[in-house]
Formats: sequence, structure tokens, C-alpha cells
Amino acid sequence: MKPSLNWDSFRQKAFESGFSACSFAPADQLDDLRPTFLEWIDSGKAGEMGYLERNVDLRLDPGKLIEGAKTVISLAAPYYYPLDEHVAGNPRISRYALGNDYHEILRARGHELLDWINKEIGPAKGRVFTDSAPVFEREWARRSGLGWIGKNGCLIIPKQGSYFFLTEIITDLDLSTLLSSGLPSSSSSRLPSPGLSSDLLPPHCGTCTRCIDSCPTGALAGDGSMDPRKCISYLTIEHKGDIPEEFHGKWSDWVFGCDICQDVCPWNSKPFQSMIPELAPRSGLMEITGRTMEGMDEATFMQLFDGTPVKRTGRTGILRNFAFLNRKSE
Ligand code: SF4
Ligand code: SF4
Repeated sequence: MKPSLNWDSFRQKAFESGFSACSFAPADQLDDLRPTFLEWIDSGKAGEMGYLERNVDLRLDPGKLIEGAKTVISLAAPYYYPLDEHVAGNPRISRYALGNDYHEILRARGHELLDWINKEIGPAKGRVFTDSAPVFEREWARRSGLGWIGKNGCLIIPKQGSYFFLTEIITDLDLSTLLSSGLPSSSSSRLPSPGLSSDLLPPHCGTCTRCIDSCPTGALAGDGSMDPRKCISYLTIEHKGDIPEEFHGKWSDWVFGCDICQDVCPWNSKPFQSMIPELAPRSGLMEITGRTMEGMDEATFMQLFDGTPVKRTGRTGILRNFAFLNRKSE
């Protein structure tokens, strides 16, 4: 008997694993993105993110990541937890980085789902990715019908907002031919249905420009694209060396990342809260003051940030960012 997929059962399983939305799309090559992506790379906007220039073919063809890839399943795990109001003057860390590092947590949960597929449907070759390989994560989520790319460059999921980590399962199973039950309509369901046809969500930003108007560094182009070299997240995390002088005084408090263009978005007025306790903000990170940062030694840095995304910049990186905020103009 032909194996079949009960999509409701799968998404229930995904929900239990901490993913508030899931969907899938055929693992076609993304050749239509190639000219724009290469043009963007050539413009130099990738800055020091050399990994974006490498493996372009891999990024555009899931079949190069999994032989015989047929389906890309996109999963969205909310990381939002309510926070106390930020005290102006205290160092500020992006929401996603206040808890434990998400990479392993979500990869493990993605593997649970891949195991479920293997058990319930049949042998499936597959790999799980979460911000860990050349995969166009937002584009796959958009193609699967999960949401649209807002003017702030984030994937926005209706009724859920944009505070998500994305995870993908790329598999050689053709899920579209295995569906055994009718697909629920996205309007009546909290979890959108797979984007198997032209059923993709058009952008719902309308005339809103809040994110563009609020970005302190003018990084957003207005069409969903951005210049990362101007973005506080890039400058405080990816950029090596001194932060360029032209940005001095443009922002306050952010020492790792920036949430402004998401915090102002009306689609985030009732954000979906994380269901993964390991992603909850660590209490120590909520109480950091300027005094904590001043002269922070390695032991204190590790005590606060070991196992969190902040470890990426290391102590010297976060201290550089803090010093940049507090430096007198030249
Ligand atoms: S994260 Fe901050 S700096 Fe970057 S685009 Fe958004 S508002 Fe601008
Ligand atoms: S703030 Fe407005 S323009 Fe920006 S992503 Fe949200 S809805 Fe779109």
C-alpha cells in the first residue's frame, strides 16, 4: 500500500516540538533568485559575511544538499518571551540572544520530526538545518506559504508576527503526493497550509513604513531588502574591527543585535510566545548594566554568555560595541 502523510498529525507533532507554524514546498532549484542574489553580492552589501558568497550553487539548489531532494519543510519556532521594560542606558541584547543558543536546540527538535516521518511514512533521506548551512530560509518559508517578507526583511506570519527561528527539513520524500487528508484552509487554522500551488501569501505591509522610519541607520531599502553593512545587527555581530565612525551616535544601548524594526511592526503587537523553555531569557542577561560591562573579565563573560548566541562576538566584540556607544565623538 502506498505510504501517506496525515498533515494534521505532522503539524500537531511539530507544534509539540515547539514549532508554531509549518509548511512545505517542492525542492525546486531557486534559479529565479540567482541574478538578484549575485547582483546583491556584487554590490558588496554582504560586507564581511564571506559565507554568503561561497556555495552560491548549494544555496540555490537543495538537491546539492540532499541527493534527490523533493521537499523542503519549513518550520517556525517562536523565540518571543515578554521582557521587563528596558532601562535606558543599560546595555541591550537582541531578544533572540537572551536564551540558550538555538542552533542545537532546534536541530534536535527538527530531527525528532524527521524520525517521526521515517516511522510514520516510510524511509526518508533528509537533513535538518537551522541557520547552519547555505539555505535560503526565509525564501523557503515564503514559498511554502508560511508568510511574506516584510519591508523589514523578516518573514511575517499572519497572526503570529516575526519573532521566529526558522528550521528546514530537506527530504527526498515528495510530500505533496503523499498527503492523505484535505489541507485545512489557512484562514481557519492557526497553522498555515502547505504552499503547494500559487496559494502564496501576498505582502501585507500595505502603506506602513514604521520599520523603515524607525531604523536608526537607514539600512532598510523599503522593498524587503537591506544593506547589512548599515544594520546594527551586522555592525555589532558580524563586523570585525572598529565600527565605522559614520555610525557614532546613531543608536543607544544595543551591544548585540537590534530589534527595533521588529518591535515597531504592527504584526508583532500580539507576538506568539515561545514554547521552548530553553530559549527563555537567562535572568542574568536581563540585569546587565553598564557596570557589568566595564572591565568585564573573561570569567564573567563566560558566566553570563557561555551557551548563548552572544558568545559569537566573544568578550572583545561585546566590549568593543559597548565602548563604541560610550566613546566621545572625535
Ligand atoms: S535590525 Fe535595527 S539597524 Fe538593522 S534594519 Fe532593523 S532597525 Fe535597522
Ligand atoms: S513595520 Fe510595517 S512596513 Fe515594516 S514589516 Fe511591519 S508591517 Fe511591514
